[in-house]
Amino acid sequence: MEQKTIYHALNIMPELCNGCSHCMKVCPTQAIRVRNGKALMHPDWCIDCGECIRVCPTHAIKIAADDFQRIFDYEYRLLVLPSVFFGQFSNYISLEMINSILKEMGFTAVHVPEESVDFLLETMNHYIEENQRPVISSFCPAVIRLIQVRFPSLVNNVMRLKQPMELTAHHLRKVYSEKHKADMAKIGIFYVTPCAAKIASVKSPVGDYISPIDGVINMDYLYNRVQKESVKKLAENVADLPQERIQLSGKAIKYTLTGGEKDNMWQTGLAVDGLQNVIDILERLENGEIEGVDYLELRTCDESCAGGILTPNNRFFAAERLRRMAKKLPEECWMPKKYTDYLASIVNVGQIEPRSIVRFHPETKEALKMMEKAQEIKESLIGIDCGACGSPSCEALAEDVVCGKATIEACLFQRIKSGKAGSLSMEQAVGIMEEIWGADKFVDK
Ligand code: SF4
Ligand code: SF4
Repeated sequence: MEQKTIYHALNIMPELCNGCSHCMKVCPTQAIRVRNGKALMHPDWCIDCGECIRVCPTHAIKIAADDFQRIFDYEYRLLVLPSVFFGQFSNYISLEMINSILKEMGFTAVHVPEESVDFLLETMNHYIEENQRPVISSFCPAVIRLIQVRFPSLVNNVMRLKQPMELTAHHLRKVYSEKHKADMAKIGIFYVTPCAAKIASVKSPVGDYISPIDGVINMDYLYNRVQKESVKKLAENVADLPQERIQLSGKAIKYTLTGGEKDNMWQTGLAVDGLQNVIDILERLENGEIEGVDYLELRTCDESCAGGILTPNNRFFAAERLRRMAKKLPEECWMPKKYTDYLASIVNVGQIEPRSIVRFHPETKEALKMMEKAQEIKESLIGIDCGACGSPSCEALAEDVVCGKATIEACLFQRIKSGKAGSLSMEQAVGIMEEIWGADKFVDK
């Protein structure tokens, strides 16, 4: 069983957190607790979906990407830039202008990860025919981790194939080492991420392999730099920009949007976006309520990557711009057979392990015993999931009690029962509340 603690791009800044618990209430894997008036994240349960960031009123949750200056550690600085980035700009800013600004910033070349989608789509279609259906897309790393943590019985349905950003990075490394005779150690490949989940998937990929990507750049940061430069160039009416094109196809652009995989399947597919919709479909699948579907394209963000937490502009505008752009481009990207053969040799990933049991104990036998105990405690609780205990639900408090991270008296109703029975004093009850919500919440301001 996979026991490694996974890398997370999210950090909660205690100095900014006011303990409002909004993040705790939306977390789909119950990974957050409030203790001492601050939110705490459990690293083994977080899936980097970014839902907590969307609701935090004090911007206390930050996403840490790599420092931009790291690109200069390499001689060949290759940028893998998701096509969703282009959807952030107005029509006045051309792809050629964006490309030329990025080169001025220090990149040797700019490529879109979706360059490899023609190869991948064909491989996926064969994979679906040969594996347990419905096959669940492995495109969105937050979905894979959601399944590992919350829907362990479905891990074998997850497609064990690398995704465009990794395949394109492998392809580029091969091209630069062969065509340009570049020393592998001098090639640096940097991915621009629209979300936290992709950072985590580069730093600790699921499926037992090492990512071919050397660093991850925050899309919001890069957008601001390119946007500022492009406004300057437009104001100066720069006419002599190099007109070097980025290799882009209609299929590549649409791949990152909802339906981009499903629309290219030979079999029956379903495309679902938005975290709650994804959870609903996975629950139905687990309950055996989904029939006649061979492929599930599931993406946790609304409008897929156009709705990623690090995309700077409105997702509907961005998706619409990209769809319009796709219509004007050739449908497919050509890749020489020599390279598709190479990608075919490295496209598979290893076993994907469930992580649900790890919530309790690394040893399965012990974990099952603890799960049974937690169920008993849960049944003794009132079941209204008020969150006053600093845990997101009665079920989560029961787990915390079994794992020694809380006492049953954290529950307000249990405290009143104990108070009435004379086994808990007022001072003790106040002490418990202070441990959860912080002493400063109980003084007059
Ligand atoms: S990123 Fe998602 S899973 Fe992680 S703590 Fe936030 S809401 Fe929970
Ligand atoms: S949403 Fe979470 S991290 Fe943000 S202030 Fe509230 S408790 Fe703190």
